[in-house]
Amino acid sequence: MADDYILTTEGLTKEFAGFVAVKDVNLNVRRHTIHALIGPNGAGKTTCFNLLTKFLAPSRGKITYNGRDITSQKPADIARSGMVRSFQISAVFPHLSLLENVRVALQRPLGTSFHFWRPETSLNALNDRAEELLKAVGLIEYRKHTAVELPYGRKRALEIATTLALEPEMMLLDEPMAGMGHEDIDKISELIKTVAQNRTVLMVEHNLSVVAKLSDTITVLRRGEILAEGNYEAVSKNPEVIEAYMGT
Ligand code: ADP
Repeated sequence: MADDYILTTEGLTKEFAGFVAVKDVNLNVRRHTIHALIGPNGAGKTTCFNLLTKFLAPSRGKITYNGRDITSQKPADIARSGMVRSFQISAVFPHLSLLENVRVALQRPLGTSFHFWRPETSLNALNDRAEELLKAVGLIEYRKHTAVELPYGRKRALEIATTLALEPEMMLLDEPMAGMGHEDIDKISELIKTVAQNRTVLMVEHNLSVVAKLSDTITVLRRGEILAEGNYEAVSKNPEVIEAYMGT
């Protein structure tokens, strides 16, 4: 059923001066799942992400979110409608405490054309909500520390907390495990699983064991086109997928 899908694209295409980086991509992201976008370098993953979050305008094609055509919407409008990209837009202020960082995110107006402020404007209510979010990402004991003091993995957890402050219905994660050691990878994996319990997550991720562990559905891109789609078992056995990865 169409309603099962929170985000779909039809014929999504992006050309850069004649070079087709994303070609006729039909993506179907099922609600309340973790969906991974993988593929060798240059496959078009980042371009696809930028198209979905409207950091880039498509050359052709249509993007539908919750049944609404969002192809011509601005990034802030997309974020306001519940689809939020983490790591790129969730700015962390290095010299503010973790609590202050999450409080800022809670009060952040989404976009400039329409400022909305949450009803819970009292400082106590904001602190309570910020503490709840820090608890959810395992950072409550560091709430008085400044963000700059955090090791890398925890900084990413803070970024997830600041993204959650926007109450996203769908989170787009751009290489959440980039630059992380095993221990942090395990922690952030657990966190993504928790976050995805009542949300949809779409992520670009290079670490295939993370993709295998977390994803319900995987879309494999190669040279801008969808090469394969399915669960990890299915796509990892696909000879074309194996060849695409071996070829890099
Ligand atoms: P991936 O994220 O899968 O590594 P990208 O989406 O970054 O792939 O890039 C896909 C292709 O599009 C690459 O060949 C890249 O060189 C090209 N590309 C990406 N952005 C631009 C741009 N702004 N101008 C020209 N070519 C681009």
